[in-house]
Amino acid sequence: MFFRFLIGICAIALLLLPGSRLALAAGYRAGSHEINLIGDGEAQGSSKLFVGADEALVKKYLPDGAYPTAIQYYVVRSADKKVALVDTGFGRNLASGLRALGLQPENVDAVLLTHMHGDHIGGMLKEGQPAFPRATVYVAGRERAYWTDPAMMEKAEKKDGFVNAQKVLAAYGERVRTFEPGELEARGVEILPGIRAVAAFGHTPGHTMYLVGDESGQMLIWGDLTHAMAMQMPAPRTAMVYDVDPEEAIATRLKVLRYVSEHKIPVAGMHIPATGMGMVARDGDGYAFTPADLAGALGHREKAPPEAPPKGSNAQSGRK
Ligand SMILES: [Zn+2]
Repeated sequence: MFFRFLIGICAIALLLLPGSRLALAAGYRAGSHEINLIGDGEAQGSSKLFVGADEALVKKYLPDGAYPTAIQYYVVRSADKKVALVDTGFGRNLASGLRALGLQPENVDAVLLTHMHGDHIGGMLKEGQPAFPRATVYVAGRERAYWTDPAMMEKAEKKDGFVNAQKVLAAYGERVRTFEPGELEARGVEILPGIRAVAAFGHTPGHTMYLVGDESGQMLIWGDLTHAMAMQMPAPRTAMVYDVDPEEAIATRLKVLRYVSEHKIPVAGMHIPATGMGMVARDGDGYAFTPADLAGALGHREKAPPEAPPKGSNAQSGRK
């Protein structure tokens, strides 16, 4: 099934490696929230997945035509012990990742979806039933509308993605809550305490980022704003075959990269290779990304709060 998702969504050149190395990376403190990464594996993508890329830039930044990527998702815990998942990857390391944080699927209060591609909703169901028996699922209204639109499904070359998204929506039924994400300049709209939904349309019609934390510390979990960091940082005008609207995806990427670099907001991504998190800075015509050294470099995550999560869940557990 994982393989089918790969073919359907990530197409062609991704080859997932066993995910154990990224099964759980370090935690990051964003205000009163702690953010942990769960990884389903690293992969190599191919420049054949680019749309309208400048060939000279491809040669410059990816001389062998390949870029490192990863499939991952995030656990966000608030000071009052509410547990939110942002996406679920393929779900491959979901159970073990949660367990390493002292959590079970029953402990997940909310699943916040950036969008409904198979490498983000792959952990939502277990044998056709909701994998999270108590969770409310949050998804942008226009994202749900897209994946449930018979006309869009009719037009699509591959129907699997639509079928899978519809299965997830049907299984969670009334527990699916839709919202209209806010603009980045307005810091989105708050959908849960300390978690704000921000519009980042283009990759999919309702693609949403989540801004976690407050002025004392924050992180923007940007979903699929990028797939190929090695190319899309120095050359952010490079689109991907996965983008539903490549032009809109590029415009969104340029806007978000400018904003996070100017405001020095740490970011986390679903396809940013280890450690998944880091800082973006302006660099010539493009941007440069500095991965977070989760042993302490970003400075917000050093100590556990008084309401510390259960033992064994801190930064380095499970990280090999
Ligand atoms: Zn993705």
